[in-house]
Amino acid sequence: MGASRSLTVAAGSGSGRVVDVTRLVRLGYWLGDRAPGWPDPRCFVDPGWDADERAETVSYLRHAMVARAFMGHSRCRFCDAPVGALEFSDGVFLWPEGLAHYVEEHDVRLPERFVRHLRAMVEKLEDADVDDSWWQGLTSPE
Ligand SMILES: [Zn+2]
Repeated sequence: MGASRSLTVAAGSGSGRVVDVTRLVRLGYWLGDRAPGWPDPRCFVDPGWDADERAETVSYLRHAMVARAFMGHSRCRFCDAPVGALEFSDGVFLWPEGLAHYVEEHDVRLPERFVRHLRAMVEKLEDADVDDSWWQGLTSPE
């Protein structure tokens, strides 16, 4: 796998500080003919997974930052559909664009560690104080 660029995330309160991300936890790669060493997605299928939690997970997976782009689409291990050539990240985890497809179309349930993390991230954003002063104080980009 060759990454086309590295990931940086904005952090800090209103400072516009950019932090280099040096280590991300990868998830969502699956066992395949040319991909040994990854988990078997069939072992993650759980049609009984709570529908709201599943929908929230799909939304989170689809709306993160694009961290890397690869040549060529990967294919779904279940239905062989092309499922994308990008990797997304939230600055903590890193996952392939196609992971949402597995969750949405094939009832793949993601581990509690990731689901707890995304819930905490969503809650943190929803509850955060918002500082409008920087933007309101601007009259031009300079
Ligand atoms: Zn599929």
